[in-house]
Amino acid sequence: MQQFQMRIGDQWVDAHNGATFDSQNPYTGENWATLPRGTAEDVDAAVKAAHQAFKTGPWATMTASQRGQVLHKIGDAIAAHAEELADLEVQDNGKLKAEMHKQMEYLPQWFYYYGGLADKVQGDVTPFDKAGIFHYTTFQPLGVVATIAPWNSPLLLAVWKIAPALAAGNTVVVKPSEFSSASTVFFAKLCEEAGVPPGVVNVITGFGTEVGAPLVNHPLVARVAFTGSEGGGRAVYQSAAASFKRVSLELGGKSANIVFADANIEDAVKGAVTGIFSATGQSCMSGSRLLVHSSIHDEFVERLVTFMAQAKLGDPTLEETNMGPVSTQPQLEKTLYYIDVAKAEGARCVLGGKRSTRPGTEQGLFVEPTIFVDVTNDMRIAQEEVFGPVLAVIKFDTDEQAVAIANDSPYGLAAGVWTRDLKRALEIPKQLEAGSVWVNAYRLVSYLAPFGGFKASGIGRENGIRAIYEYLETQSVFINPTPGVDNPFIFR
Ligand code: NAD
Repeated sequence: MQQFQMRIGDQWVDAHNGATFDSQNPYTGENWATLPRGTAEDVDAAVKAAHQAFKTGPWATMTASQRGQVLHKIGDAIAAHAEELADLEVQDNGKLKAEMHKQMEYLPQWFYYYGGLADKVQGDVTPFDKAGIFHYTTFQPLGVVATIAPWNSPLLLAVWKIAPALAAGNTVVVKPSEFSSASTVFFAKLCEEAGVPPGVVNVITGFGTEVGAPLVNHPLVARVAFTGSEGGGRAVYQSAAASFKRVSLELGGKSANIVFADANIEDAVKGAVTGIFSATGQSCMSGSRLLVHSSIHDEFVERLVTFMAQAKLGDPTLEETNMGPVSTQPQLEKTLYYIDVAKAEGARCVLGGKRSTRPGTEQGLFVEPTIFVDVTNDMRIAQEEVFGPVLAVIKFDTDEQAVAIANDSPYGLAAGVWTRDLKRALEIPKQLEAGSVWVNAYRLVSYLAPFGGFKASGIGRENGIRAIYEYLETQSVFINPTPGVDNPFIFR
């Protein structure tokens, strides 16, 4: 068993009461790591350390350019340890090594991009409407930012928050998911190595109600950046409202991947697979509803089933494995529950539909890649997020119908459009209530491209230039340079 500690200020610490919890490897089914089970007392210590670093530490007096250089060094440290980080993620959440490797090699870009942006945030001088007044706008960091992340892409989703928050001059208290904390704790070590001043990056491990909730409620926390479930997001939003904390929420999805009759079918089949079976369906942006034009529906489904029937399930560290286990026991149970719901609702299962019994998968949390047809959009399998490898295929006849079905969802995170018609490629995205739309592609993300949801998929955007302003307050400064007699701007 590997032992991990939390990072508070300049210290590596256990929970103040010594409590711990274990993390399971979803492929072997064995517990492999022990982590501190933090409490409100530990949260308080971390927030105070972050607050002190914000107010009085070297971080507070650095220029924006110097902060940018620190971010570059964090990026370099991640790049130098990408392999170790990928291994930690695979052990903790069972995602494919190949995918995690790519993700970790890409991750430094967030620190390079926001490091470069740190000294490019500029205010304006306003041609003011009252003579004699010099007016300008400037941007101030908020203070302590709490970042709360889920287990499916643990470090990536934390970094989407940490990089812009630090670039803007804030300090952070980072709370990883209780199911996958190891990579985030390791990241704190890399920050230490990179010369990040003490207290600027703190990491507290533990459970949502025991660590997440007190963090959101802490009076010295100025902003909460949350990624997780709709229920978790609602709890965070409600409790942050009590003290008017700034909040961003990246929540769930039930994204529609729409295949028009004129699509390149070969591409669209693989795009459908990428949409739902990458990351074993445990992706907020999963294309879990596949909308297929009725004229190509039967052939399309046949090709999809044939393609996916050959997928290899097994050891996520092996190059030849196409799909790993689901990451957690609750997620396994939830996925199997929704498979039963879909069957009971009358959807027809044409692939999978059960826990895997293939050799080499028995000890792990494996579900067969599952495809349901004859799904109607009012079924629970089409309305509720499964977050597992379960695809709901829905037929449509017209473009208007496809758009109406896609938008008939409480969520609005993402959508895919498969077409060779330029007019459709331009017109359909405008009509979709989705934060990201991919045309003839799926699941593309970048540090350059804003990401976030419409409707119940969240509030705010991460990534891209504007994300840095989510971690800044705009300040308006009015200067009367000639105080004294005849000052028209004060009471007489
Ligand atoms: P979750 O809501 O259970 O937990 C997310 C994080 O919030 C964890 O760290 C958890 O400990 C913490 N938490 C839980 N309750 C809390 C509370 N009351 N106060 C403060 N913190 C609390 O979600 P999960 O199961 O870890 O993640 C899966 C969900 O995340 C899915 O719904 C998925 O769609 C969503 N997700 C969204 C995005 C996105 O960018 N939109 C990305 C990835 C995952």
